Amino acid sequence: MSVRIDEDECIGCGTCEEICPEVFKLNADIEKAKVIMPDDGPQDLIEEAIDSCPVSCIYEEE
Ligand code: SF4
Repeated sequence: MSVRIDEDECIGCGTCEEICPEVFKLNADIEKAKVIMPDDGPQDLIEEAIDSCPVSCIYEEE
C-alpha cells in the first residue's frame, strides 16, 4: 500500500507531519502537506494520521 494525500482537500493543518514526520511533510508556504515516503512507513502512525486528518484527505492505495 502507498500513502497519498488529496492536495486539493488538504487545509495545511500540519497534523499528519506532527504524527508521522517520516512520511508527511508540510509545505507551509502553500499550506499543503505532501507524502515524502509513500511506501514502507510506520503503518501504525500512518493510520493514526489518516484517522486524525480533519478533512480525511489522506488515503492508501495499492
Ligand atoms: S492532516 Fe490532512 S489537512 Fe492536515 S496537513 Fe495533513 S493532509 Fe493536510
